[in-house]
Amino acid sequence: MRYISTRGQAPALNFEDVLLAGLATDGGLYVPECLPRFTQEEIASWAGLPYHELAFRVMRPFVAGSIPDADFKKILEETYGVFSHNAVAPLRQLNGNEWVLELFHGPTLAFKDFALQLLGRLLDYTLEKRGERVVIVGATSGDTGSAAIEGCKHCENVDIFILHPHNRVSEVQRRQMTTIFGENIHNIAIEGNFDDCQEMVKNSFADQSFLKGTRLVAVNSINWARIMAQIVYYFHAALQLGGPARSVSFSVPTGNFGDIFAGYLARNMGLPINQLIVATNRNDILHRFMSGNQYVKETLHATLSPSMDIMVSSNFERLLFDLHGRNGAAIAGLMDNFKQGGGFSVEQERWTEARKLFDSLAVDDAQTCETIAEVFEQTGEVLDPHTAIGVKAARECRRSLDIPMVILGTAHPVKFPDAVEKAGVGKALELPAHLSDLFEREERCTVLPNDLKAVQAFVSQHGNRGKPL
Ligand SMILES: *Cc1c(COP(=O)(O)O)cnc(C)c1O
Repeated sequence: MRYISTRGQAPALNFEDVLLAGLATDGGLYVPECLPRFTQEEIASWAGLPYHELAFRVMRPFVAGSIPDADFKKILEETYGVFSHNAVAPLRQLNGNEWVLELFHGPTLAFKDFALQLLGRLLDYTLEKRGERVVIVGATSGDTGSAAIEGCKHCENVDIFILHPHNRVSEVQRRQMTTIFGENIHNIAIEGNFDDCQEMVKNSFADQSFLKGTRLVAVNSINWARIMAQIVYYFHAALQLGGPARSVSFSVPTGNFGDIFAGYLARNMGLPINQLIVATNRNDILHRFMSGNQYVKETLHATLSPSMDIMVSSNFERLLFDLHGRNGAAIAGLMDNFKQGGGFSVEQERWTEARKLFDSLAVDDAQTCETIAEVFEQTGEVLDPHTAIGVKAARECRRSLDIPMVILGTAHPVKFPDAVEKAGVGKALELPAHLSDLFEREERCTVLPNDLKAVQAFVSQHGNRGKPL
């Protein structure tokens, strides 16, 4: 399988190189040159497979030529073996034909484990083969950091540095990062906000001289391997609900458009998906596009669903590429406009094409709390605020009651106690067994000033299993 850039100017790469690349050299994102397509019979024959075996069948074409089947199978068995639920991604019924796909049974209790548990293993496998080491420098507002650290903690060939804004992530989220020890794991609290952290990561990619030749790898969802891993659970959910003979709809709590883009790919690979609902919080750039064909940056609002607090959705470029007939020059033009401070609209027929599949809703904090309370009353289930946004959007935007509606349950509610408390749900939430002593564990973290040079100096002093690069 070969991968091409959404801006058309960078060289095509194989899977192995895409795994180790961040952005393409032309500023674009990598996508498969040609998407695999499965027949209905083939998909139907996967019913009842354990999760890791389904994952093998869905992802095999994407790694073809880079990872032999036997090795890939072993990696997948290990990856999904660490999830605490036997079904890995169980479906829970909320209402007639309305289901939550619980994606929070991984080590850090959010769906990001599906991709980052795999990414860590793929990196280590590939680097071992090549005799190379890499450094990861990532920024997090909460969930990505812990999932990346958990995914890479056993990697022999990866040193990971995660920047989080000092005193601005929740205690559960911070402790999920700072209580994991290893000579290759480094938590850095930056005296600044999340944007400052993200800016430092971007600048580190732009000038990598501080790494003395060691390669820098991206762990955010611009990394293709993350998107690839997320395609699998759309197949998994549909197969349990009568697919592919029957079509299924999904409502997806969305920030960077990564998770929902995986659903769009599942459909293009042959899975009958009737409707994809983009569910955003008040940071609603995607909803404004889907409802009014306006992709325009606005100011950032802090919400009760912080993992979706974004101004710009980086993976949206991957959808735009398809909507424009995979014309890289057209995408480069749109993105240039956007960077100059303008927003953009796309031609009417391209927007109409997108709307055949996608609907959207923006849900504010008050509605999020109302939905948590409503679902608790109806079912006794406590939803996390991101999942609640998905439920609200599903109930408002659903096109057909006959088609099963699956809401992606992106996090465990225990990660977001503020929202649950505000919703007035009087049920005590307990940390799962593997995290029950989280609040007693020792923490390790270095506080650094909001200064790129200080961070880069720290990385180069510790980037080789705690020793200088
Ligand atoms: C990251 C995250 C999201 C948003 O996912 P995207 O792929 O960025 O759209 C939603 N919910 C939770 C809990 C998350 O951690």
